[in-house]
Amino acid sequence: MIDFTLTPRDEQLVAIAREDASIAQKYARYYDQNHDELEPICLPESEGRPDPFALLREDTEGVSGPLITEALLHLECPDVRLRRDSNRFLGTKIIAYAGTASQIERFGKTLLAIAITEPGAGSDPRAMIGSARFDETSDEWVLNGEKIYCSGFGEAAGAVVMLRGGADENGVRPFVSFIVEKGTPGLLPLGQVDKMGIRGWDTEDFVLQDCRVPASNKLNADFKRTLMVLNGSRSMVSAFGLKIARNLLDMVRDTLFEADDRTRYQRGRHARSALQDRVVALEALHDATELAILHSKWVEERHGVTNERTMVEASMAKSLSGNATRRITQECLDLLGPYALTEESLGEKWFRDARVFDIFEGAGEINRLIVARWLLEYSNKELN
Ligand SMILES: Cc1cc2nc3c(=O)[nH]c(=O)nc-3n(C[C@H](O)[C@H](O)[C@H](O)COP(=O)(O)OP(=O)(O)OC[C@H]3O[C@@H](n4cnc5c(N)ncnc54)[C@H](O)[C@@H]3O)c2cc1C
Repeated sequence: MIDFTLTPRDEQLVAIAREDASIAQKYARYYDQNHDELEPICLPESEGRPDPFALLREDTEGVSGPLITEALLHLECPDVRLRRDSNRFLGTKIIAYAGTASQIERFGKTLLAIAITEPGAGSDPRAMIGSARFDETSDEWVLNGEKIYCSGFGEAAGAVVMLRGGADENGVRPFVSFIVEKGTPGLLPLGQVDKMGIRGWDTEDFVLQDCRVPASNKLNADFKRTLMVLNGSRSMVSAFGLKIARNLLDMVRDTLFEADDRTRYQRGRHARSALQDRVVALEALHDATELAILHSKWVEERHGVTNERTMVEASMAKSLSGNATRRITQECLDLLGPYALTEESLGEKWFRDARVFDIFEGAGEINRLIVARWLLEYSNKELN
């Protein structure tokens, strides 16, 4: 029998995270309007408050599972973080499991973003044209290309950058990844991207122009190994999106319903108003998606690693969440009417924020392809 009850410790940590999110909400509009300004390392309100993620890392006693409880905390994601979390840097995570001992020693604690996307290559990295050429005379790699939408790059000390190497005997150009630190000659940051939503989310573009890095900065990780880290982070991003959907659902409840409207659940469909019925359906979609996210983390917890199997679960959670986040926010805005379109409330911001959650960390269609390939036992070449 599956038990969905949270443990007392889970509830305690979630309550702290939920309160953090409500405290931080007063900064939401500011960082939405001032997207060039990085969020501070700590908001003043963080002082004296426990960090739920740090509490979880320090002691996992009594939680449902470290990864499951972490996902529960991500489901409380604030508009603006009360304090920055250096554990979210994907490039640093890649070093942790794909770096050599000396790379881990040199860069294991360095904040590194991950840079794959190029102007003509998002969902399909094979379209990437950024190149890496080995220069034997200097034992250096010479990197050229343009990388866009690099999350966390403003704050980071550099990035793990994926490029294409020279063609092999079959004419195939392999994917190669490098640690590129800021300040390396030839790395030209282009500043924050002016986005429609999640405008406070640190996102930068940069160019590599004959940027030379030592051979020791090359990672010994192929495409699959480098991207395996996304399996873990897809559920995290799914949870962030779903929290935005929940914000709008809460707003609908607070604005349109009486304080205690619980009876509408018991009355049955025929006795509910059309409005109540729509909200109940959206709540059900929200809850089902939340369970898919937690299930993917439960599978990861059981496997102990991110692998092919967890990849499919993470893609299921991500595609469901991207879809639910879009649908719930759109319908809530429809239910709320013109009020939610003004800057008097955060409704319109949440609506803009929601869109990207079906685009980055694998767009919905791409995640559904991953799931379909697994179900139908097709290879990448057979179904793309
Ligand atoms: C805020 C933000 C942060 C980001 N952070 C990072 C980061 O840190 N590092 C990084 O490398 N990238 C990052 N990205 C890039 C992100 O991963 C890409 O935007 C994403 O992969 C989609 O690529 P694209 O924008 O080129 O869209 P496209 O790939 O052009 O897709 C456009 C549409 O076509 C659909 N589509 C594409 N291919 C297929 C197909 N074969 N079958 C069916 N439908 C298809 C897609 O689902 C989508 O709906 C970020 C993007 C944003 C907006």
